[in-house]
Amino acid sequence: MLKLKKVRINGDAGLAHVEAGATTATVQRAAAAKGWFYPPDPSSKEYCTIGGNIACNAGGMHGGKYGVTRDFVIALRGFLPTGELVKWGTATKKFAVGFNLRDLWIGSEGMLGVVTGAVLKLIPQPAARWTLLTSFTSEVAAPGAARKLFRSRVQPAICEFLDRESVLCAERATGKTVFPGQAGRPVILLELAGSAGEVKETRSAVLAWARTSTLAFKEARTRTEAEALWTVRRKCSGAMFELGDAKLNEDVVVPMRHYERFARFLNRLKRETRLPIPTFGHLADGNLHVNIMYHRDHAGETRAAETAVQRLMEAVVALDGAISGEHGIGLAKTPFLRLQHNPA
Ligand SMILES: Cc1cc2nc3c(=O)[nH]c(=O)nc-3n(C[C@H](O)[C@H](O)[C@H](O)COP(=O)(O)OP(=O)(O)OC[C@H]3O[C@@H](n4cnc5c(N)ncnc54)[C@H](O)[C@@H]3O)c2cc1C
Repeated sequence: MLKLKKVRINGDAGLAHVEAGATTATVQRAAAAKGWFYPPDPSSKEYCTIGGNIACNAGGMHGGKYGVTRDFVIALRGFLPTGELVKWGTATKKFAVGFNLRDLWIGSEGMLGVVTGAVLKLIPQPAARWTLLTSFTSEVAAPGAARKLFRSRVQPAICEFLDRESVLCAERATGKTVFPGQAGRPVILLELAGSAGEVKETRSAVLAWARTSTLAFKEARTRTEAEALWTVRRKCSGAMFELGDAKLNEDVVVPMRHYERFARFLNRLKRETRLPIPTFGHLADGNLHVNIMYHRDHAGETRAAETAVQRLMEAVVALDGAISGEHGIGLAKTPFLRLQHNPA
C-alpha cells in the first residue's frame, strides 16, 4: 500500500516538501529538528495527515497569531477524479500564473480530487516561550478580559479558553487538576512565543493585565510544566464524553466584539435545553468548540440536542460569525450552509 509519508525540510528556503500521508506532528518535528516551525497544530496532530489538513483547512491553537493551514500551503499536487495529475503552484514563495486553484482545493474536503503532496511554508522556531494560566469568575468575564488584552495589542501565540464544564471534563478524563485552588472556575491558558527580548517585554504587559483582569493567575515555571498544561488542553475533545455518550461537536467562530453576548447566549442555551454544553477554544480568533452533549438512547435529550444545534447556528450567523472555523462542513453541517451563504 502506498503510504505517502515522506517529509523533506529545505532549510535554505524555509520550506517543507511533504507527502499527503505524513502526520502534522511528523512535519512539526522534522521542521523543529532544523530550527523551523510549522504552526498549524490541530489537537489531532499526532494522527491527522497533511492531506486531511489541506482538505479541511485545519487550524489549531496557534491560529490567532500565525494563521491556519491555508496560510502555509505554497503549492500542492494531486489527482482529479478523472485520474489526471494536477499541480497547483510551485515551490516558490511567489506565483502569479493564472487562477489560484490551489486555494480552491484547500478546504474542499476531498470533493475536487485527492491531494498527494504539498510544499509548506515554515517560519523560524521561536527562541522563547512563556505560559500563563488564569482563572475567572464567569464564562462572560473570561472572554471579556481576553478582549481587553488583545486591545492592548498583545498577540499571544496561543490563547485558549476552557469553560467550567470543560475544566471538569478534562480533570475527570486525565485525573489531573487544571488549576489547583481554582476548582469550578473557567480558565484561559496563554502562551507567548518569540525572541527572548520580545517575550520578556510582553510578559510584563500580560502580568499587568492578569493582576487587574483575572481572578487568579499562575506562571508555568518550566517547559515541562507548560507542556503538561497543553497536554490536558489537547485532550479536551475526547474528555467531553464524561458528560454524555453522544456529542454534537461544533466549531463556530464569533467576532471578538460579540464575545460576551455569545457567552450569555450559551448560558441561556444550557439552561433552556438542560444539556451540558462544555465549550472551549481559541479566543485569539474567536473559534470556539461548542460541544452539545447528550445520551443517544434518551429521546428527549436527542431532540433537545438537535434544537440546540439549530439555535446555535442561527445565533452565530446573526452575530456575523461562521458556522465552522476549521472542521469544515461534511455531511453534518450541510443543512446549515443556507444560513451562512445566500442562494446567489
Ligand atoms: C480529537 C480531535 C481533535 C481535533 N482538533 C482539531 C483542531 O484543533 N483543529 C482542527 O482544525 N481540526 C481538529 N480536528 C479535526 C480533524 O482532525 C482535522 O480536520 C484534520 O485536518 C483531519 O485530517 P485527517 O487526516 O484526520 O482527515 P480525515 O478525517 O481522514 O478526512 C477529513 C476529510 O478530508 C478528506 N481528505 C483526507 N485526506 C485527503 C487527501 N489526501 N486528499 C483529499 N481529501 C482528503 C476526507 O475525504 C474527508 O473529507 C480534531 C479531530 C479530533 C478527532
